[in-house]
Amino acid sequence: MHAPVHPTGVSSGHHCIFCDLIRGAAEVSMCYEDGTVIAFMDIQPVNAGHVLVVPREHYEVLKDIPRDVGMHMYEVATRLIPVIQQVSGAEDMNIVVNSGAAAGQNVFHYHIHLIPRRAGDGFDVPLPFPGSEMPNRHLLDAMAARIGAALRNHKGGVPARS
Ligand code: 5GP
Ligand code: ZN
Repeated sequence: MHAPVHPTGVSSGHHCIFCDLIRGAAEVSMCYEDGTVIAFMDIQPVNAGHVLVVPREHYEVLKDIPRDVGMHMYEVATRLIPVIQQVSGAEDMNIVVNSGAAAGQNVFHYHIHLIPRRAGDGFDVPLPFPGSEMPNRHLLDAMAARIGAALRNHKGGVPARS
């Protein structure tokens, strides 16, 4: 696990805009805060009510997040979702985490997107992925068995690579 980077929010030589927001150095429209997590409005929302749930400590990607912080972030997200639905008037939601550059992460301070969705809004998370073929059952079973076996050996830290 990576230690949080404080108080500058600078990790790997990069400046962090979310750390700036958290320490009050830049404008932010906050809708929730506690000692561990804050939630604020995305500056470029998919739709009105697009919220980011963000840990106060600077962790870059999913694997860096301590389990208790990650669990708390999802607990806060679960509380916010029905409220966002009510306030935005949009019942449908995407809950999105982009973890790592290949996954489309742009701000390397881990966060959860809560995105209210409206018919025809033009946003898309295209699943099933049109660019992939369906593997045969043997391959799916083999991958399921590998993951199941790795999970049984997994004591709560980052699983060992095989
Ligand atoms: P990512 O691609 O890292 O998952 O998403 C980053 C999100 O942060 C984007 O949706 C972007 O609009 C939002 N964002 C980037 N800079 C700022 C900022 O300065 N303030 C706020 N509130 N949101 C930001
Ligand atoms: Zn940060």
